[in-house]
Amino acid sequence: MKYAITDKCVGCHACQLVCPNQAVYADPDSSGRFHIHRRRCSGCEGQYAAPQCASICPIEEAIVNELNIAVNPRGSLTGIGASL
Ligand code: SF4
Ligand code: SF4
Repeated sequence: MKYAITDKCVGCHACQLVCPNQAVYADPDSSGRFHIHRRRCSGCEGQYAAPQCASICPIEEAIVNELNIAVNPRGSLTGIGASL
């Protein structure tokens, strides 16, 4: 499974630091925004039980899987607004 970063990203750098494949990079045209290099992302398969970027990301809906489903959906981290 590949992952992608959405426009909810606040550019905190956390995912870039933990990615085992150096797949996360800063957007050269938009400060405070990061992306995942599609070919470099392994989904952490064979390396970790869960995608490390999504595990550390503090922002809900900032990382989605290849089905465009948020790994940390609204309310999952804060417990707020899950039903909104
Ligand atoms: S899923 Fe793993 S390999 Fe892919 S960007 Fe996230 S941390 Fe890197
Ligand atoms: S951890 Fe989340 S908010 Fe921080 S840079 Fe990565 S995707 Fe953006």
